[in-house]
Amino acid sequence: MESTLEPFEYDGGVIDPGESEKLRFAISETYLGDPVRIPVTVVNGAEPGPTCFLSAAIHGDELNGIEVVREVVDEWEHDDIHGCVVGLPVLNVPGFITQERYLPIYERDLNRAFPGNEESTSAYRIAHRIYTNFIAPCDFGIDFHTSTRGRTNMFHVRADLENEAVARLAHAFGSHVIIAGEGAEGTLRREATEDGVPTITIEMGEAHRFEPPLIEEALHGVRSVFAEYGLYPQESVRWPGWRTTIEGWGERTWLRADTGGIVDIHHDRGELVHEDEAICTITSPFKTDVETVRAPFTGLLVGVLENPVVYPGNPICHFAEIEQSTIDILEETGATDETATPYPDIGL
Ligand SMILES: [Zn+2]
Repeated sequence: MESTLEPFEYDGGVIDPGESEKLRFAISETYLGDPVRIPVTVVNGAEPGPTCFLSAAIHGDELNGIEVVREVVDEWEHDDIHGCVVGLPVLNVPGFITQERYLPIYERDLNRAFPGNEESTSAYRIAHRIYTNFIAPCDFGIDFHTSTRGRTNMFHVRADLENEAVARLAHAFGSHVIIAGEGAEGTLRREATEDGVPTITIEMGEAHRFEPPLIEEALHGVRSVFAEYGLYPQESVRWPGWRTTIEGWGERTWLRADTGGIVDIHHDRGELVHEDEAICTITSPFKTDVETVRAPFTGLLVGVLENPVVYPGNPICHFAEIEQSTIDILEETGATDETATPYPDIGL
């Protein structure tokens, strides 16, 4: 990992150690030939240390991460930072403007186009501009997401734990829940990791919202990561109190509706649900029950429906199996508090 004092260079500029810059960087052009530009803040510390990127809104309607990135790069004091932080609060600018997940033209998923290609489709060219200038020069990174519209995710990290450097980053973030897996091809997380820039994804809440408790929790996570990598050498890494790793991302953990109807959900995201307990009831327009969806095992509600209507086959919740030791902890504490304690007195 880089630890000498170096300028941060991108196409069109240089940011020397001890300097910060807020810039708008062209990634594409509109039909009118005007530039499409992403906001970028680079904070290059006066002390040597690693270079880290923080990115959000690669899906244009996922807003929580935007506030996390802005808070870190634009609000925090950086006098003592050892290393360099690259803040990319809105990667999918066209999607952000229309408040949609995908790039509006042809509904392309920017998060399947990495590391990009300068001679391919517009999505690949955009990804290429972002990747070569602001991702590839980094030592590691964190990409912030929420659930898709109409659903919500409990706070968790997604990371390829078989990669040691990624596991270090995931653990340093200090969330209760980590879902293990390398991610789909073309995602920023997977492609950056394969290219030698260990990257994790944070999933937090729902699209189209700022959720302050989750934003606060993510900021604690970033601070803890900065401690682990020496960007904040005076701070300590947090231990969340308890941690569970959910292996894989299998279809079996998606519970789907078999009937169409209006859904009455009985649990919140992050709750422990015991085997055979009702997770939700699907009702008719006349409020008669038509289907009760029960927990197939004792597990954790990682993601649930927010928009309470389903067709047959629609996912109702992402329900994950967890270890008995985690079940014991959750039974003791009553319910899952998504927010880990910032600096608890155990495990350090
Ligand atoms: Zn997303």
